[in-house]
Amino acid sequence: MIPSSERWDYLVIGSGIAGLTFALGVPEQARVAIVTKDRSDESNSWYAQGGVATVWSPEDSFESHVADTLTAGAGLCHEDVVEMVVRDGPERIRELIALGTRFDTHLHGDAVEYDLGREGGHSRRRVLHAGDVTGQEIVRALSLAVRARPNITVFENALAVDLLTDRKGESGRPPSTCWGAYVFDRQTGGVRTMAARVTVLCTGGAGKVYLYTTNPDVATGDGVAIAYRAGATVANMEFFQFHPTCLYHPQAKSFLVSEALRGEGARLRRPDGTLFMANYHADAELAPRDIVARAIDHEMKVHGFEHVYLDITHRPASYLEERFPNIARRCRDFGVDITREWIPVVPAAHYMCGGVITDREGRTSIQRLYACGEVAMTGLHGANRLASNSLLEGLVFGHRAALDARELLDADATPPPPLPAWNPGTAVNSDESVVVTQNWDEVRRAMWNFVGIVRSTRRLERARKRIATLQEEIREYYWDFLVTGDLLELRNIATVAELIVRCALARRESRGLHYTIDYPERDDAQWRHDTVLAPGA
Ligand SMILES: Cc1cc2nc3c(=O)[nH]c(=O)nc-3n(C[C@H](O)[C@H](O)[C@H](O)COP(=O)(O)OP(=O)(O)OC[C@H]3O[C@@H](n4cnc5c(N)ncnc54)[C@H](O)[C@@H]3O)c2cc1C
Repeated sequence: MIPSSERWDYLVIGSGIAGLTFALGVPEQARVAIVTKDRSDESNSWYAQGGVATVWSPEDSFESHVADTLTAGAGLCHEDVVEMVVRDGPERIRELIALGTRFDTHLHGDAVEYDLGREGGHSRRRVLHAGDVTGQEIVRALSLAVRARPNITVFENALAVDLLTDRKGESGRPPSTCWGAYVFDRQTGGVRTMAARVTVLCTGGAGKVYLYTTNPDVATGDGVAIAYRAGATVANMEFFQFHPTCLYHPQAKSFLVSEALRGEGARLRRPDGTLFMANYHADAELAPRDIVARAIDHEMKVHGFEHVYLDITHRPASYLEERFPNIARRCRDFGVDITREWIPVVPAAHYMCGGVITDREGRTSIQRLYACGEVAMTGLHGANRLASNSLLEGLVFGHRAALDARELLDADATPPPPLPAWNPGTAVNSDESVVVTQNWDEVRRAMWNFVGIVRSTRRLERARKRIATLQEEIREYYWDFLVTGDLLELRNIATVAELIVRCALARRESRGLHYTIDYPERDDAQWRHDTVLAPGA
């Protein structure tokens, strides 16, 4: 239950790697609230399998990690940000280890060394991991540390609805200021006014905007939609990463088969056993993700396959059970023994490279509002994210934003102004929740069919019209009926869908994760810049 009168120093929205890192980075005397819309461990962070990339081995270098990130980003990474994140990385990882995170190790002679995985797009082994459940291990350690801090209160089932700003931002006017958020209590159905001197969006990604996704149900892009409604600037929403290999099984909702399998030698095969990746890229299975996802999509569409296969049966069973225990167990639950059988896989929506624009300290275009982790567009990923760079981004920006925010509050003691309570107006309980379910399905299907891995202007236009109609219905429903979690999330996925389509229509070239048959070439002369959607645009 959320208490009725709240005044916090810091309001952290989201309890994944970015939110927890931020909360641990502010002073121990500060009053910190973390609101999270489900159980606190339900997040993309929890499901991360492969690991976290950082320069750790003496055979690796910052230059190499920077170069690999820039190559994946296809000309749109902000080089200063890449350099900063890569160089900050080892220190953040050392802190995670000091907090009790147990990454895998092995013996090298007499010495114990961290085991470093290699993934697609990385030219060196630099991915620290904890088996194939790295996210769980990191979140476990961070959550324990948060629980040990009496100044931090975690509210579960608490869904941020909208930000409390002093006015709506508009381009050309000075930025507005954020003083907290309205938060919906899923248990009571009430909406609280949570005032804060600093608010930080750590709401993660938006995989649920697509019909098939590797993301858990909480990933509905709320932070982007909330920030955009409040007048923050967002960018690069057309760059949505599809993970090439999600387990294909009617009951296996969103189970990802990690890239790390390909790093350890797994091959992609057509149903007749033919290998095909060498036809698409010199690095074959280790090509960047977008190329692998597009190759599988192409194979499926051209040959009419329902899925392709991933084969790692050449590695010893004992090694696979030890290195990929979770994947081996989950696949076995669905009747696939990865030590003897090929794994049926399809691509699925995985990672949002765009988001709320921030600077190097996680500051958004709204004062006192920060954004960290997947919700943010920091410039690290450009047009495509390099595998295992996102946990790193959450750590680095969660930490940097906390340092910046504490400086802000040290220098300025202004309390939040009086804030209006939530006004439900004349809304009544709805007896038509089928409308919400139907619209959820329509948004996600339209995005999957018309705004997927391979796009065209015609299909994008079709999506734009359908989504606009759905938004109109959602708007009416929103004002007529009392809010529910499903309705709030539906409103957000529709907004995120609109932003993805608008960015995709604006970018008249193919680059990184955005591929359109109408402009199949990359056009550096005209398009080497972010797709920015300013407030009111
Ligand atoms: C299956 C899978 C495997 C992955 N593997 C890797 C990997 O190996 N390496 C890597 O670097 N990255 C990986 N990623 C990506 C990475 O996990 C995410 O990008 C990263 O964890 C995002 O962290 P975050 O803190 O920004 O968001 P999240 O961890 O998603 O946390 C978001 C939090 O915000 C909460 N929330 C959302 N909206 C609201 C709201 N309105 N009100 C209140 N709370 C809200 C959510 O409930 C959640 O607690 C993977 C992702 C998935 C899905």
